[in-house]
Amino acid sequence: MEEERRILPFECRGCWYVWEEEYLVRRGEGRRGDDREIWLRSGVAVPPPTQGAICPRCGCQAATTFPEGYLRWHPELIAPVGPPTPDATPLLSPVPRRHPGHLT
Ligand SMILES: [Zn+2]
Repeated sequence: MEEERRILPFECRGCWYVWEEEYLVRRGEGRRGDDREIWLRSGVAVPPPTQGAICPRCGCQAATTFPEGYLRWHPELIAPVGPPTPDATPLLSPVPRRHPGHLT
């Protein structure tokens, strides 16, 4: 039995969300001598992703897979990871504060 770690890219056809999922594919012979593939995600057997995946964003089941490594050539498809860099500029007005003067 051999194991192979595969990271497959997906794209949702409903909302165009792109994500990746990591699988462990276990190959072995079935009882009748036929080749068997078992797909595991986080140690849990799941249906092969070629049968479709569920979009984690909108729940649509029309997600498609890309060939492995596809996103390496299209990094613009992946949303940036982590929060955007905060603007370091302090929120201070350049206009000098006017003191409310008493004109009496
Ligand atoms: Zn979606």
